[in-house]
Amino acid sequence: MLETTIAGSLPKPEWLAEPEKLWAPWRLAGEELKQAKKRAAAEWLNHQQAAGIDIVTNGEQFRIHFVHGFLEHISGIDWDKKTAMGIRDNRYTVQVPTVTGPVIRPESVHLDEVRFTRAKTDRKLKFTLPGPMTICDTIADVHYDSRPEMAMAFAKILNDEARELAAAGVDVIQFDEPAFNVFMDDVKEWGIAALHRAINGLTCTTAVHICYGYGIDENLHWKETLGSEWRQYEEIFPALNASRIDQVSLECADSRVPMSRMGLLKDKGLMVGAVAVTPDKVETPEQVATTIRSALQHVDAERLFPCTNCGMVPIPYDTALGKLKSLAAGAAIVRNKL
Ligand SMILES: [Zn+2]
Repeated sequence: MLETTIAGSLPKPEWLAEPEKLWAPWRLAGEELKQAKKRAAAEWLNHQQAAGIDIVTNGEQFRIHFVHGFLEHISGIDWDKKTAMGIRDNRYTVQVPTVTGPVIRPESVHLDEVRFTRAKTDRKLKFTLPGPMTICDTIADVHYDSRPEMAMAFAKILNDEARELAAAGVDVIQFDEPAFNVFMDDVKEWGIAALHRAINGLTCTTAVHICYGYGIDENLHWKETLGSEWRQYEEIFPALNASRIDQVSLECADSRVPMSRMGLLKDKGLMVGAVAVTPDKVETPEQVATTIRSALQHVDAERLFPCTNCGMVPIPYDTALGKLKSLAAGAAIVRNKL
């Protein structure tokens, strides 16, 4: 019990991409880049195992962006036709590519990296994919009639991908849906239906990561507007609890999400963020233990998975490493006393 895991991403080493920069371009190319990604992933697997993380990931060392890393391999998207789009309900404007035809997955996107990662570790392995709603909020569209229709088209190809990855030995497939706490009505109307399409027929554990985003300026300003308690989750948690998704995440380290909201997810595993994505501060094991103990007042230990608040890609390498160690050590403190 209290199996530890991480949201997914980890910082790139400085020889692979510029550190502490979101979406930093690769420093290498061709075969050299291919080998460098593998080396970076293998190093993070070793770090996670040495720290004592139970459910590991490849740290997303094979992709630059958590959505585009998948979309780059999908046909039906025009990458030269850029459209200015106010994403996450106009929190920030980005030039995004445009869907101009039916989206098709010509071949496996992540199978090679999963085979490589699976062969490198005996631990339970998690793999993250972008969720259909978040994809639709990160790309423009001139082909489909509506966002729900496009979401279902992406959900179908995500499902094809997820089935192949599960067959290759992935234990947990997680869909990243930061858009879920922005479009709460859409989540209930079609977001969960799209997720169900994406997990259709999967026999591995399934998870959804929802969050208030990395600590970039746009997100920090947005969080300032949310008041002393962040209550967005309570609008969607009842629907998620009724869904077929196995695990749901929430941030508990340095956040204003009321922990009592876990009571709305009585039938789910909870990935409880016990370390924050902060560049300048590493939680102590005792602080992690305190967060886990607080969470245990709302969820039993069998359903609690101590986790990071969000992906750790934007913070310094050594800080992320320290946080992994504290996360595992903090969980061990609590586990030993239960
Ligand atoms: Zn996140």
